[in-house]
Amino acid sequence: MEILAKALENNIYENIITRLKSILKKSETTEEFFEIIRNPKKQTIISFPVTMDNGKIKVFKGYRTIHSNILGPAKGGIRYDKKVEMNEVNALAILMSLKCAIANIPYGGGKGGIECNPKEMSEGELERLTRAFIRGLGENISPKSDILAPDMGTNSQTMAWMVDEYSKNHSNEENFGIVTGKPLILGGSKGREEATGRGVSISALLGLKLLKIPSQKANVAIQGFGNVGVNAALTLQEMGQCRIVAIADRSGSYYNENGIDIHNAIEYKKTNKSLSGMQNVKKISEREMLSLQVDVLIPAANEDFINDKNVSLIKAKLIVEGANNPISNEADEILTNKKIMVIPDIIANAGGVIVSYFEWVQNNQGYFWTLKDVNDRLESKINDAFNEVYELSTKHKISLRLAAFIVALNRLTEAQKYRGRF
Ligand code: NAD
Repeated sequence: MEILAKALENNIYENIITRLKSILKKSETTEEFFEIIRNPKKQTIISFPVTMDNGKIKVFKGYRTIHSNILGPAKGGIRYDKKVEMNEVNALAILMSLKCAIANIPYGGGKGGIECNPKEMSEGELERLTRAFIRGLGENISPKSDILAPDMGTNSQTMAWMVDEYSKNHSNEENFGIVTGKPLILGGSKGREEATGRGVSISALLGLKLLKIPSQKANVAIQGFGNVGVNAALTLQEMGQCRIVAIADRSGSYYNENGIDIHNAIEYKKTNKSLSGMQNVKKISEREMLSLQVDVLIPAANEDFINDKNVSLIKAKLIVEGANNPISNEADEILTNKKIMVIPDIIANAGGVIVSYFEWVQNNQGYFWTLKDVNDRLESKINDAFNEVYELSTKHKISLRLAAFIVALNRLTEAQKYRGRF
């Protein structure tokens, strides 16, 4: 919710465009072609009635943007939230186009959502809402043109209803490829649930290697203890033997210089719904957390967490963006000038969409991979993306974020050139 309010305030879409424009001359993209990229290809707004549990009809508004399909079918999540609106949907859709291009997967970018409060709706109402939305989208979506996924307020159950409704309305064919993030029994992929956090950890370990910091000696602070934060913590311990010294959720930030037992923290949060009151940690303020002398800082919660008001506190040597847009434009420039390495969201949190792509491939093949297959291929995709971006950032002496934008723009331009003129 806060994310969306801030989106309106800061106009994330224009922020992304400004950043892209700043490197346009270093890319192979012309001003003329940039006009194609800066404008979302298709924006759909639908209104649809749903019968609520009290028998009354309520009309909802749903959105879907295909930002680009130059590289393949659009791909991106569906968000259920009170503040869903077009501007933010468009911003998240363009980020998906860039992310897929950098990860070198054959997808364009999409995003969508329904303006609703899922926390106040019953399971039955959510199912009817989801089915009505899919019917309303009609031919706008298909496994070959626009593929949906979970996002805030939606989950694997929502995806299962979407598969069912879409299939019923399309010649009764079982179209598992219309969404990713499905339950395993309905065509989901092993490793999808933890993929974003695992990708964050793979990126962090690549960054540490470049900084010549042995991962076994690295101290890590993670803001956000949800899907991304928890899985980043677990996989950083598993793959790099890193020490997680600070974690944070909405209730506050918690520190233990000797390392926090993450499994305990997960169990505690499950029982108590928050980290508040957890044993063997000291509660610290958000500013104290940002000031910690850690090797790695992972923002994995909200947008604009690091901004011009707190960026000066940061002592971390490496920042890995688990969340989307957790650093404001101003703070990003300051960090670049201070030579603090930032691995941007469009690489660091791409694990989710990469494994979504694997899920879609498995659905198309009708053959499912082992967890090891999924994890190995994920690691190889992130390694390739990171190395390509790092090489370009060294060549142009620019940040990894700007270098990643160049990779994305170049790939989109090359594909568009082959597709031809209009
Ligand atoms: P989530 O809802 O599972 O967890 C969010 C966590 O952040 C919660 O622990 C919450 O308490 C905490 N939080 C919220 N506001 C906070 C604050 N101000 N300070 C400290 N903690 C706070 O969400 P998630 O799926 O882990 O996603 C986190 C971020 O990563 C979002 O920006 C999301 O868009 C992005 N992201 C997620 C995925 C994915 O696959 N889940 C993929 C790409 C990007």
